[in-house]
Amino acid sequence: MMESKIRIGQRTVGPLQVFTYLVQCTATGEAVIIDPGGDEDQLAQWAADEGVHVKLVCNTHGHGDHVAGNERLCRLLDVGCALLGQEADFFGLDRMLDCPIRRLSDGEEVQVGDLSLEVRHTPGHTPGGVCFHTPGHLFTGDTLFVGAVGRTDLQGSSMRALLDSIKTQILPLDDETVVWPGHDYGDTPTSTVGRERVENPFITDLL
Ligand SMILES: [Zn+2]
Repeated sequence: MMESKIRIGQRTVGPLQVFTYLVQCTATGEAVIIDPGGDEDQLAQWAADEGVHVKLVCNTHGHGDHVAGNERLCRLLDVGCALLGQEADFFGLDRMLDCPIRRLSDGEEVQVGDLSLEVRHTPGHTPGGVCFHTPGHLFTGDTLFVGAVGRTDLQGSSMRALLDSIKTQILPLDDETVVWPGHDYGDTPTSTVGRERVENPFITDLL
C-alpha cells in the first residue's frame, strides 16, 4: 500500500534545465526535494502550495547544475541536504556549500513520513552518484535518461562503471518501476525500467 501514499512532482529549473522533484508522503505531509538546480524561491513556494513539510534536500550527485539551489533552498526551508559521503568528498562540497550536509551510504534508507527512499550507489557519471528508489519509482539523476545515459567524459566518470551500475542497481528492478531522470533528454519526461530495458540503446547494445 506504500505506493498509494506517494505523490511526485517534476519541474524543470535553472539554466541547465535540471529536473527537480518534490516527493511527498501524502499520509503525513512530509516531503523531500531532489536535485534543486535553481529557482529556489519557486521551489520553496511549490512546497508551500502543496502544503508539505520538506525535511531534507537530496542530491543524486554533486555536479553544479544539480546542487546549484542547495544553499539557498536549505536556508529558505531550514533543512540540510544529503548525498553520498564519497560524492561530497570528491567535489569538496563541505567547503563549497554553506548548509548542513548529511552523508549518505549505499543501501541506506531515507525516511520521508511513511515512505522510504533507498540509496543505490550508481557510480559512472560521477564516483559517488546515486539513484533513490522507493517501490514503483526510481530517481536516476544523470545515471539513466530516457533513451540515453549520463556523460562519462567528465572528471571521475567511467562508462564501464556506469554500465555496471545500470546492470546491478537498476535492471533488477520491476519493469513497471517509473524512471524519473535528471534531465528531459528523451522523447518523454519519464520512462519505466521495462521500457528502457528494451529501447535504451546503451542497455540493448552495450550490456
Ligand atoms: Zn551530472
